[in-house]
Amino acid sequence: MRLTFLGATQTVTGSKTLVTAGRSKLLVDCGLFQGQRELKERNWAELPVDPTSIDAVVLTHAHLDHSGYLPVLVRKGFRGPVWCTPATRDLCEILLVDSGHLLERDAEFANRHGYSRHKPALPLYTVEEARAALRYLRTVPFGPSFQPIDEVTAMFLPAGHILGAAMVRLDDGAVSVLFSGDLGRPHDPVMLEPARRPASDFVVVESTYGDRRHDTTDVEQRLAEIVSSTAARGGTVIIPAFAVGRAQSLLYHLDRLKRRGALPPIPIYLDSPMAIDASDILCRHVGDHRLGDGECRRMCSVAHYVQSVEESKSLDRQTMPMVIVSASGMATGGRVLHHLKAMAPDPRNTILLTGFQAAGTRGAQLHAGARELTIHGQLVPVRAAVESLDMLSAHADADEILRWLASGPQAPQRTFVIHGEDHAADTLCRRVASELGWQAEVPVYGEAADLTVRRDARSLV
Ligand SMILES: [Zn+2]
Repeated sequence: MRLTFLGATQTVTGSKTLVTAGRSKLLVDCGLFQGQRELKERNWAELPVDPTSIDAVVLTHAHLDHSGYLPVLVRKGFRGPVWCTPATRDLCEILLVDSGHLLERDAEFANRHGYSRHKPALPLYTVEEARAALRYLRTVPFGPSFQPIDEVTAMFLPAGHILGAAMVRLDDGAVSVLFSGDLGRPHDPVMLEPARRPASDFVVVESTYGDRRHDTTDVEQRLAEIVSSTAARGGTVIIPAFAVGRAQSLLYHLDRLKRRGALPPIPIYLDSPMAIDASDILCRHVGDHRLGDGECRRMCSVAHYVQSVEESKSLDRQTMPMVIVSASGMATGGRVLHHLKAMAPDPRNTILLTGFQAAGTRGAQLHAGARELTIHGQLVPVRAAVESLDMLSAHADADEILRWLASGPQAPQRTFVIHGEDHAADTLCRRVASELGWQAEVPVYGEAADLTVRRDARSLV
């Protein structure tokens, strides 16, 4: 096998690794680049491999930075199966269509207000193209092996990151390689613990938090403090949250706090049709997470669901304190932008960030203390308090990644550290080398690696 790294190299987005085996080509993940303009431009550039020559795709999970390029791949002629777990398929059905909506709406908005450099601005893909891509999804549960291409057997194992998230192990009979996918945390109250690392000759591991240790403060205590103090000054807590995963974790904690009487009696709104659908999908996949059916449904009922745009906008005119959970999680698009426009200038409010904020996003600017944001071409002052709940992360931190790597039976021959910004990937790579004594490297965009097993390594097995 040969790997070519076509995304998530020195960045956390655009996950795509081409696997060449014999005459076949397989793409592991097919993600969108997000965040900085130079990265997003890669979504528009020609892929270094002809999409019609790719035989199959394997998705580790549904997040757009792993699945969101599929509609482009299909438009450019890819016609093979896209293998994923059943829950990933259900989530892709809402995420990809929503992504098409957002891209269409942003292009339309840019044209109407004339702030795009491109005339006219076109969406990267449409809703219709997103729907067309969904027809290629094929599901396989965790555990049984399947054959995405003739030369390679594959297997999904739970990665714990979000519903349906998998690590994937590929084996061509001579060598094996394990992709961690995005790795979850061992003690998440909602998601399953990541499976122990299975044996493989090579490992491709994510490093989103490769240079960080998650805050160990109790998340519910902190959440209760933030909601209570904001409500006490008459403000609203606006929470940009990833619709899939993070929104449900927030509902879980808010429900527990509410039942303990630890929250002030203010309404909680889940203002994201996609998060509402994702909550429903979570409840449909009991067994793929830690919650029972009743627990799952009760947790979802803690919030008022906001479906229509009119209702969403009417929230901005309310004067009473409330909690609004809305997407997108890094404030790159979606309804949360309207809430930020309306609420960021008021010092009584709190903007609560709840996960990784990729460089170049409004979330990263807020995290870094920005006192103004550009939203829809308009400068918006930020006088609201900005807090973050890093411990709610759906990603393992550096120590947890190292413990997961060490949980497997034997050291791989080589480890490729991807899906991290420069400092995170480099730091994790050094720790893998120094603490585990493994050969590790951080591949750059477009780099290829031939996977061949050393004779001495083989004889040791
Ligand atoms: Zn992810």
